[in-house]
Amino acid sequence: MTTLQTDSPKSFLEIERATPGYRPVGERLADWREVELASDAESIRAQTARCINCGIPYCHGAGCPFGNLIPDFNRAAHQGDFRLAWEILAQTSPFPEFTSRVCPALCEASCSAGPEFGAVTIRQTEKAIVETAFARGWVAPDAPRRTGRRAAVVGSGPAGLAAAQELNRRGHTVTVYEKERAPGGLLRYGIPEFKLEKSVIDRRLRLMRESGIEFVCGTAIGADVSADYLLRKHDALLIATGTPTARDLDIPGRGLTGICFALDLLGGQNRFLTGETGAPAVSAKGKRVVIIGGGDTGSDCLGTALRQGALSVEQIEIMPKPPAERSPSTPWPQWPYMLRTSSSHLEGGARRWSLLSKRFVGDESGAVRGIEVYPVQWSFDDRGKPLRFVPRSDDPEIIPCDLVLLALGFLRPDPEALRAELRIPESESVFFCGDASSGPSLVVRAAASGLEAAEKADAFLRSGK
Ligand SMILES: Cc1cc2nc3c(=O)[nH]c(=O)nc-3n(C[C@H](O)[C@H](O)[C@H](O)COP(=O)(O)OP(=O)(O)OC[C@H]3O[C@@H](n4cnc5c(N)ncnc54)[C@H](O)[C@@H]3O)c2cc1C
Repeated sequence: MTTLQTDSPKSFLEIERATPGYRPVGERLADWREVELASDAESIRAQTARCINCGIPYCHGAGCPFGNLIPDFNRAAHQGDFRLAWEILAQTSPFPEFTSRVCPALCEASCSAGPEFGAVTIRQTEKAIVETAFARGWVAPDAPRRTGRRAAVVGSGPAGLAAAQELNRRGHTVTVYEKERAPGGLLRYGIPEFKLEKSVIDRRLRLMRESGIEFVCGTAIGADVSADYLLRKHDALLIATGTPTARDLDIPGRGLTGICFALDLLGGQNRFLTGETGAPAVSAKGKRVVIIGGGDTGSDCLGTALRQGALSVEQIEIMPKPPAERSPSTPWPQWPYMLRTSSSHLEGGARRWSLLSKRFVGDESGAVRGIEVYPVQWSFDDRGKPLRFVPRSDDPEIIPCDLVLLALGFLRPDPEALRAELRIPESESVFFCGDASSGPSLVVRAAASGLEAAEKADAFLRSGK
């Protein structure tokens, strides 16, 4: 047996990028458990060696919104010092157990080895580090010295949770208000169990509660309690209410039954799995399903519909099929425009691109039975970025279906409308973060924005105003 020379300066050339992959399709479609396998110790040692001696670590600057010290924790993990690796990771990342499961890994897209040799597998190493830390009891509740100042956080998605954890660490007394029955935001009610098991969120919430953070769930600010009232009880207010409004598709036939938003399916399934409800709100069982929207939410719908027992699933998209490799329109270290194939796409269903949905077709009972689509012709700029399309109305097609899932993204909240809805007074003690301020984004960006808002709120609270 040849021994890997993992401390060689040419490790990124000598060792190929390798990921642990997924559980077998047949097995994972029969349950809701996490699909991705964990890397073993030998693979972590080999893969982290590919990072060592990197001259230009763009991953932690251009890539990671937390500024994770990736080369440093990779080196520690490579040397088998997981305690040190954990201390380095925990310095910057509030919830590595979430991001190591659901982050698209902006860091890997900007890895210096990426363009030619395959990016270092940073996300899997992060997961190995954080899971080792939990298993060995290194992740303990925080015990900060109290400042006597109080902060309220509205919304408990990754932005609200990150803000709450950080403010609490800085000694302020934090209460999180959440309109749903349990905290977590889209981590709990959007992202499927097969990507992020909800026990992972509950494990973090236990720690946060033990650290002194109070959660008040089932309370909608603006409806049950006004933000103005919260401000009278607290010294600072952080708004992390996300992007609750899904983009609709206002075409003829939209009123037919059997057409719903992606989150009705995804949230409904998650609520059912955790026992919040007795049955999923929407079921794809025995149905021909069409998902409109080719993004990640659509792919989550695909995996969910397949597990629920859909007869067939098609995911359709108006944009053209992206190139198999990084498009020149997004040069390294930018996030690449290219075809992405998720674990759900490998499980079944079909994907189609360049299709414009014109109308829904129903039966006499008012239920959807098809979608009329037209192919569209795209034009591109000289670097391959799609510019505009022309529908080819001479060639319509009706895709038969019994369930349509609209996965078209979410609308960025209008700041003034949000203030009015939540009844937020004009005050320098109010801070916005996460998708509520940026528009729909990613878990890692929402959490980074929560940390940033917490830092500003901390400065305000310490100013004594
Ligand atoms: C289906 C789906 C899958 C996704 N998958 C991924 C993924 O794999 N990886 C990734 O990085 N990103 C993913 N995203 C995006 C990611 O989940 C979001 O960017 C992120 O959750 C935003 O965090 P947030 O805290 O700003 O808002 P949210 O997570 O939306 O949390 C907002 C919270 O505020 C609460 N709230 C709203 N209004 C009020 C009110 N008036 N009073 C009290 N509480 C209120 C809501 O109930 C919610 O709990 C996905 C999104 C969706 C929809």
